[in-house]
Amino acid sequence: MRVITTIKELQTEMALQKKKDKTIGFVPTMGYLHEGHLTLIRRARQENDLVVVSIFVNPIQFGPTEDYTSYPRDFERDRVLAEWENVDYLFYPSVEEMYPHKLSVKLTVQDRTDVLCGKSRPGHFDGVATVITKLFNIVMPTRAYFGKKDAQQVAVIEGVIADFNFPIELVAVDIVREADGLAKSSRNVNLLPEERLEAPILFKSLTAATTPIDQGERNPAKIENVIKEMISNESNGEIDYVEIYSYPQLKPVKTLAGRVIIALAVKFSKVRLIDNVIIEIAGS
Ligand code: AMP
Repeated sequence: MRVITTIKELQTEMALQKKKDKTIGFVPTMGYLHEGHLTLIRRARQENDLVVVSIFVNPIQFGPTEDYTSYPRDFERDRVLAEWENVDYLFYPSVEEMYPHKLSVKLTVQDRTDVLCGKSRPGHFDGVATVITKLFNIVMPTRAYFGKKDAQQVAVIEGVIADFNFPIELVAVDIVREADGLAKSSRNVNLLPEERLEAPILFKSLTAATTPIDQGERNPAKIENVIKEMISNESNGEIDYVEIYSYPQLKPVKTLAGRVIIALAVKFSKVRLIDNVIIEIAGS
């Protein structure tokens, strides 16, 4: 595995490999790798000649009061894990390398961001779209791998790929969970011990919500309330949102029908967690 820290070196290497007709699978991450990331890496490994993983905690996707400085980082550990997974190139640029001066052009995401994390983290998806566009231009992968844990991010990146004509196949991978159902996340280490015990209620409430749906309930507000009640009864987390939208359009639904996403975000003392389930309403 080669660790590369400069854009120029990676671009030169990727151009060389493309000349040899190698397919390139790309997994962008913010590091502090866990089984969720490793699942994306393994999928990329299976489907491509070469695998590129990037580790970059992107400052421009964090709001001023968010956890950029406390976001967990451990490059040595990540390097070992990536090597273990037979990654070919680990791209680990500095902030100065990625943003040597104030950007003269910044992307603004106009669609699918007026809800969920787009609403509660203003500017977040502009930062994501900007860094992903830079990374796509640097790596020029055949396929790019993203987790459905960040379902809205997948929807936004589909837009980036379509609007800016990237010849890249987006592969969306299912959420990887802990044994107790908590979605794996680098941020989980920033939960206090008692919060870690409460956090599985996020997925439990999403799962429980499917029971009334199976029994015929079609009112999204009622389902949202079932989830909110469970979370507030069984944790001290502060609910940021619990919302249901059509997926992948992310439009409000008056009646549950077709494919919908039930998504939530909950703030604990030092960390905000997200989770979702995407379900198909039978017979609609
Ligand atoms: P991050 O390092 O949090 O930016 O995540 C990098 C990629 O890994 C994103 O595409 C995430 O959606 C994905 N990812 C993170 N956690 C999980 C998980 N538990 N299951 C599946 N994919 C995940």
